[in-house]
Amino acid sequence: KIEISGLRKQFGDLVVLRDINLKVEAGAVIALIGPSGSGKSTLLRCMNLLVVPEGGRIRIGDDVFAFDGSAKLPGVREQARFRSNTGMVFQHFNLFPHMTVLQNVMEGPLSVKNMPKAEADALARRLLDKVGLSDKVDVFPNKLSGGQKQRVAIARALAMEPSVMLFDEATSALDPELVGEVLNVMRALAAEGMTMIIVTHEIGFAREVADRLVFMRDGVIVEEGPAREVIDNPKEEATRAFLSHFH
Ligand code: ATP
Ligand code: MG
Repeated sequence: KIEISGLRKQFGDLVVLRDINLKVEAGAVIALIGPSGSGKSTLLRCMNLLVVPEGGRIRIGDDVFAFDGSAKLPGVREQARFRSNTGMVFQHFNLFPHMTVLQNVMEGPLSVKNMPKAEADALARRLLDKVGLSDKVDVFPNKLSGGQKQRVAIARALAMEPSVMLFDEATSALDPELVGEVLNVMRALAAEGMTMIIVTHEIGFAREVADRLVFMRDGVIVEEGPAREVIDNPKEEATRAFLSHFH
């Protein structure tokens, strides 16, 4: 279970998140939508401590971080533990180019979790099988399609056994014919009960897979509710205007 309360972030004079409050039940799938610059990526990055908020708190499971504006975080070990709660998948896959697909997925468990090599190998193979890439384990990333790279990135994030998966426009950089294979992997994860926060422009996918939809604009949550309800019948004019771009 995730609880974000009173979260604030600014870059210089630019206020990017103003008092964000959000609860995510274990196993829930949240679609996060909103115009460019509304703060969606920044919110995900705060949850992964890639960005340090000025105020508010974030609870993920039993781990809580409270931010008091000092930009001072607790020790590196606590940071690493907190970060390992979240698996992040980006628009650009950021795979290690000098490692094979298998090595990419094993790297986190080996270096961060000190997992024995045989165990990391077995875990990575199981996850690559799950994302449909068991035939690509020994290939280097430059031999893969965008959709395959993104599925490796998902397997790599899952290898850290996170309690929540954060997807930041995971399909936005893909050729249209490759979007489906990545959405299928995400759909299967959701069906397994993985807690997920998905920033996406795939409104149809959000309507089908997400339990709840969160619409952000200018650093605030404007509207939040059951995904179908909000998409089919938004209450706020701003949500309606934004969604009208997708029909
Ligand atoms: P998009 O849909 O384009 O990805 P977004 O909703 O993800 O947009 P963010 O990337 O969170 O938006 O950015 C929110 C605002 O914060 C933008 O105005 C952006 O320029 C600014 N911003 C983001 N990161 C930084 C940074 N590291 N330094 C300064 N400003 C930043
Ligand atoms: Mg973004």
